[in-house]
Amino acid sequence: MIRVVLLDIDGVLTDGKVIVDSTGKEYKRMDFRDVDAVYALRGAGIKVGLVTGEDTPMAKYFQKRFKPDYFYSGCKKKLAAVEEVIALSGAAPDEICYMGDGRLDLPVFRSLQCTAAPSNAIREVRDLAKYKLSFAGGDGCVMELAEKILALNGASSGK
Ligand SMILES: [Mg+2]
Repeated sequence: MIRVVLLDIDGVLTDGKVIVDSTGKEYKRMDFRDVDAVYALRGAGIKVGLVTGEDTPMAKYFQKRFKPDYFYSGCKKKLAAVEEVIALSGAAPDEICYMGDGRLDLPVFRSLQCTAAPSNAIREVRDLAKYKLSFAGGDGCVMELAEKILALNGASSGK
C-alpha cells in the first residue's frame, strides 16, 4: 500500500527544459494529464509531496498550484527530505513512492524500495528504479505512475 508519493519537479512534472526569453524570463512545460494525476492520487487519500533542488519563483508556483502535503525547495539533500516525510507522515519507508530523474535523486533511489523513473531520466536513475516508466518527464510520467499506484493500492485493499 502506497500512502505517500513524492515527486521531483524538473524532469518529472516538467520536461526538464527551460525556455528563456530575451528578458531572461523562464518558461517550463507540463502536461495536464500529470496535473490531473496529482489530484487523482490525493483524491484516493494518498499524500503528495514535491521535492526540488530549485529555489526559484517557479518552485513557489508549483507549491501554490498543487498545495502539496509536503514541499521542499532548494533541497540538495533529497534523502534528508524523504526521511523527514517518513517521520512526519508516519508512513513506513516501503509505503512511500519517489519519482525523480537526475543525479540529486540517486541517494533516494538507493534507499527506498518504491521508486520510479521517467523514460528520459539519467541512466543511473533508470537502472535503480523499480518502475521504469515509458512516459517522459512533463509528458505523462506522473499519470503513468498514478495508474500503477492506484491499481496496486486497489489490489492490496481487495477492491
Ligand atoms: Mg529533476
